[in-house]
Amino acid sequence: MERFTGSFTQQEPIPEAAIAAALRVMQSGRLHRYNTTPDEIAEAALLEEEFAATTGARYCLAVASGGYALATALRALGVQPGERVLTNAFTLAPVPGAIASVGAVPVFVGVTEGLVIDLDDLAAKAEGVRVLMLSHMRGHICDMEALMRLCDARGITVIEDCAHTMGAAWDGRLTGRWGAMGCFSTQTYKHMNSGEGGLIIADDPTLMARAVLLSGSYMLYGRHRAAPPPEAFADLRLTTPNISGRMDNLRAAILRPQLADLPRQCTRWNERYRVVEAGLAETPGLTRIKRPAAEGFVASSFQFLLLDWQPEAIHAVIARCGARGVELKWFGAPEPVAFTSRYDSWTYAPSAPMPATDRILHGIIDMRLPLTFSVEDCAQIARIIRAEVSAVFQGDTSAPDLTPRAD
Ligand SMILES: *Cc1c(COP(=O)(O)O)cnc(C)c1O
Repeated sequence: MERFTGSFTQQEPIPEAAIAAALRVMQSGRLHRYNTTPDEIAEAALLEEEFAATTGARYCLAVASGGYALATALRALGVQPGERVLTNAFTLAPVPGAIASVGAVPVFVGVTEGLVIDLDDLAAKAEGVRVLMLSHMRGHICDMEALMRLCDARGITVIEDCAHTMGAAWDGRLTGRWGAMGCFSTQTYKHMNSGEGGLIIADDPTLMARAVLLSGSYMLYGRHRAAPPPEAFADLRLTTPNISGRMDNLRAAILRPQLADLPRQCTRWNERYRVVEAGLAETPGLTRIKRPAAEGFVASSFQFLLLDWQPEAIHAVIARCGARGVELKWFGAPEPVAFTSRYDSWTYAPSAPMPATDRILHGIIDMRLPLTFSVEDCAQIARIIRAEVSAVFQGDTSAPDLTPRAD
């Protein structure tokens, strides 16, 4: 019986060019973004400029984390304590956490079988709400034309959580470029790796001037190259609180070579995704996620559904795959393991049950697809999942082979 021996949490090494750039920053000792010599441009400022150019955004700000980026976007929009903010019922904890961090109240919108936000549920819950924090969770992108039509008609401002969609697009337009602000993460498990880090893009000068000041620019915002002109700061500079969350030059130096390499990496991710997807075709009991033609996704993980399966059977699949080295996560587990991803785990935000969404959440199985896996690894992983899902579906719930792993 074949067994997979790779690690689902092992990312690729930081590229040599990035290591060299990081060494130069460390040798200079000037890690703080505003600690520059007169003729020097900070790595953080260069990263912002390059990310703005890559995405086509007018402005970009580099910050300490993706979660910080989301909270900063809410603050820049003036979201008030007690205000209700729409967001996805299927997302990760930093998203409702960002809303809670400004004292606002998440209002959860349901998920479809395509793993995207349910636009009918969104329309039903939109009354009296000013902001939607849209999470492109696990890289699944909803019909952005339809979503923006719905939100524009109601005067709802959209913040995009692009933690899983760096480089991805809907109908040729990049995620992060549909809403008023796009927020990205450069935490280790995302598309670029600086350990921790975040990026915000926007076209609106007032929103971005607020974000820059909020991030802790002091009166040094003039050193930003992908920021609005000084006039945009005039009325804000003394009234906007400093909530420090800057990115440092070390992280920026590590990210710039990765940004240059992003298109190549995106192709590699999707090659791996397509191999797993093809390997799971027509597996009894398993529902693959349909990817619309307009969705230019960038996969860094893989999801499938075990719709309407009994919990014991899902447990059996997870255990049997785990015993063969394939680490699956059951997002729908009644007790969250490792991290939370469903609305009823976040009990600080009250929510009414959503039966249609609960049915989907109950069946979502998730798997990371790091670039350290070869295409052959992905084919093997798919064979193992296929065999174990089929076995359990056909009634074999015998105990998995739990022989200790060699590693
Ligand atoms: C990782 C992540 C974030 C936030 O990222 P951090 O940089 O870890 O704060 C936001 N949304 C989603 C969906 C994420 O997976």
